[in-house]
Amino acid sequence: MSSSPKISRRTALAGAAALPLAAATAGATRAAAPMMGVQVAPFQRLKIGSFEATTLLAGSVPRKDPHSIFGLNVDADTFKSVSAAANLPTDAAQFFFTPTVVNTGAELVLFDTGLSGEGTTAALEAAGYTADQVDVVVITHMHGDHIGGMTMEDGTPTYPNARYVTGRVEYDAWAQQDNDNFKAKVEPFADQMTFIEDGGSVASGLTAMGAFGHTPGHMNYMVESDDTQLYLGADFANHYVWSLGHPDWEVSFDMDKPAAAATRRRILDMLAADKVAFVGYHMPWPGVGYVETRDSGFVYVPHSYQLML
Ligand SMILES: [Zn+2]
Repeated sequence: MSSSPKISRRTALAGAAALPLAAATAGATRAAAPMMGVQVAPFQRLKIGSFEATTLLAGSVPRKDPHSIFGLNVDADTFKSVSAAANLPTDAAQFFFTPTVVNTGAELVLFDTGLSGEGTTAALEAAGYTADQVDVVVITHMHGDHIGGMTMEDGTPTYPNARYVTGRVEYDAWAQQDNDNFKAKVEPFADQMTFIEDGGSVASGLTAMGAFGHTPGHMNYMVESDDTQLYLGADFANHYVWSLGHPDWEVSFDMDKPAAAATRRRILDMLAADKVAFVGYHMPWPGVGYVETRDSGFVYVPHSYQLML
């Protein structure tokens, strides 16, 4: 008996000379604490040299039947065994939406705007910023979960003081299509937009890197300050096991699947070789990790504390 936790704890409490009476008796009358559901903090701020980079959780939702999205070119047994080996269910997957805001010291730069203005500004405010402090909004590509927050629900601009930057190829590709979301969320800002190419600069230390395939002009960005780098990978890889372990698995969201797979492999090779941390817009929260090679693919290693020091 003396080895059971309950007895051990009682024995320990009996020895605590200064135990307040209220604490000793309160347990009998207090209601049980309510269950509050799964919850995570909505932001994480890291140090990139003299910059600060904050990932923002703009939303998170479960999606059923992930094999209808990832691994379109493999059979159900393969999808199941790869998932089981990684201790992942195959009936549902949790999706995350992670804009990143970088404070260069001169400008506050937001990369992507989430599904809605309301969702992203809630996380931004939790992180200590206000929407009117945002100087630059960078759009990596024109899918709805990246441009949805350009305006609030009432149609007003979410970031009233911002200038806008996006890839020339991406903008032109969507402008040629009859896309309602693009017309509602992006076109109204065209006059305030700067269009950049692969290798172009948003601001000092923020460099565009072409990552075409997911969308026609999908762009990534390298954040670099004082020899420290953080790669903002947007949607070049959308799942930490199915996309990293198997870069050639086709993904329903990739508009040009062979190009997306080639881009994925090229970037994963680079991140693994250079040991550079990346933010994946849809990686498991808080969205920052490293890449290591394994077999014919890669493995995701979540950031621990490297960018806190
Ligand atoms: Zn996305």
